[in-house]
Amino acid sequence: SVIEIEDKEEDLEERAPIVTIMGHVDHGKTSLLDYIREANVIAGESGGITQHIGAYSVKIKTGQKIAFLDTPGHEAFTAMRARGAQVTDIVIVVIAADDDVMPQTKEAISHAQAAGVPIVFALNKIDKPTANPDNVKQQLASMDMLVEDWGGKYQCQEISAKSGQGVEDLLEKVVLESEILELKANPNKSALGTVVEAQLDKGRGYVSTIMVQAGSLKIGDYILAGKHSGKVRAMFDERGRNVDIAPPSTPVSILGLDGAPQAGDKFNVFEDEREAKQIASKRSQLQREQSVRTQKT
Ligand code: GDP
Repeated sequence: SVIEIEDKEEDLEERAPIVTIMGHVDHGKTSLLDYIREANVIAGESGGITQHIGAYSVKIKTGQKIAFLDTPGHEAFTAMRARGAQVTDIVIVVIAADDDVMPQTKEAISHAQAAGVPIVFALNKIDKPTANPDNVKQQLASMDMLVEDWGGKYQCQEISAKSGQGVEDLLEKVVLESEILELKANPNKSALGTVVEAQLDKGRGYVSTIMVQAGSLKIGDYILAGKHSGKVRAMFDERGRNVDIAPPSTPVSILGLDGAPQAGDKFNVFEDEREAKQIASKRSQLQREQSVRTQKT
């Protein structure tokens, strides 16, 4: 069966926060994710991450790591939450400082609140002459969300995703918020986690980007993810480097699954290859039967 052993307090170790960036269209989510991915704010590693990947991990100047889910908008976040796969520890809500708190901003806030995930606000486009961060803070206050420098509990940072101004400070606030959460996981057991994205690569076969949430994933592990299974043949980090072992809060791209699982699918390590295969084919069969029934009605 699935290897999932009850964790003892002494087996738990600190893990990095997993962060999603949400906000209204054009307020700068993509720009911020790109800046963090490419910039040299990341300690110890020059050059940045050039390839686009559904999840990546960065180390900030203070040495702490943060894992980002780089999924288009909040759709993925909603889908994952709906499927019971809670992956995000903290949400950064980006609000353009030259605009108002918009409908998608409110939606992002209520999604995060419904999931019980803490929010850090990033007031973006501070480089623009028309930027008016106080206006945004005022609007948040009228929604009962008082930012820290106004005496409230919400971390808030003025940034420019264009120039990078304030981004390092934003990431430090994210780490501060994560320290309050005391995020922990047991790295010394078989891995489990969530699929972030998957696709067929012409040369390499099915490539799945996954987020390890507990345990450690190793080369040769046999995994079941949604309707697909397979032996992990290779793992790569966000820089395309080979990885042998992926501890909690590590995003990796893996080779070896016999198909592309869906974003939000859970994965588990199985001791018994046959059992994983059986469950995978049973799930496929169930889905086929369901789609036949839907067609009939
Ligand atoms: P998204 O829809 O939330 O992902 O927003 P984008 O990242 O695509 O940004 C929308 C537009 O705002 C683009 O034209 C960006 O170049 C611009 N933009 C994003 N961040 C900044 C910023 O900090 N300053 C300025 N001046 N423009 C920005």
